[in-house]
Amino acid sequence: MLRVTEIFRSIQGESTHAGRPCTFVRLTGCPMRCVWCDSEYTFTGGEHFSLDDVMREVHSLGCKLVEVTGGEPLAQKAAFELIRRLCDEGFEVLVETGNYVSTAGLDPRAKVILDVKCPASGEESRNDWSNLDRLRADLDEVKFVVADEGDWLYAKRIVEEQNLETRTRAVLISPVWGQIDLQQLANRIAASRLNVRMQLQLHKYIWGPEVHGV
Ligand code: SF4
Repeated sequence: MLRVTEIFRSIQGESTHAGRPCTFVRLTGCPMRCVWCDSEYTFTGGEHFSLDDVMREVHSLGCKLVEVTGGEPLAQKAAFELIRRLCDEGFEVLVETGNYVSTAGLDPRAKVILDVKCPASGEESRNDWSNLDRLRADLDEVKFVVADEGDWLYAKRIVEEQNLETRTRAVLISPVWGQIDLQQLANRIAASRLNVRMQLQLHKYIWGPEVHGV
């Protein structure tokens, strides 16, 4: 069984897959407490679904691309089995995970978007750095959500030290909504000459920052 907050079809708002129609399976619960979290509504509640129930719902929504997200989806052991079944049944699967739970054991057909926690999140000390060892250059992406200049400098240092430009499909620099000057961040990224990608959360521009299930 899985505890599920919502399953819905929308447009992918982030990553190199932004703009593509996508079914989201948003699992309930997260062991982290990032201070700027925009998904606090996933911390509690949710409904219990069997794997068959989730698969039935995903099939009914009819998107080839499926993202398993949260909360922290990998905090539920059954999520690993769900991801395997989605891959078995021919879906292109994205897994957005907060770099706290180990990605070891994840189906290798799933594409990982690893959300490395920066200092201003308050959860930087809980990063599981071993997850970087499992990145695949052709499939996986690393995201840094940055709230201030310190976060940008932290992300830049990790990208350089870990050689993430060549070890990932993309490095995403994602500003916290409403907290950081976008032009300043864009200028810093451009000046850095790093091969990283500034990403804005497309769904928040389309539907607004407070709307869920879109
Ligand atoms: S890991 Fe994600 S869901 Fe969990 S507290 Fe941080 S931002 Fe929120």
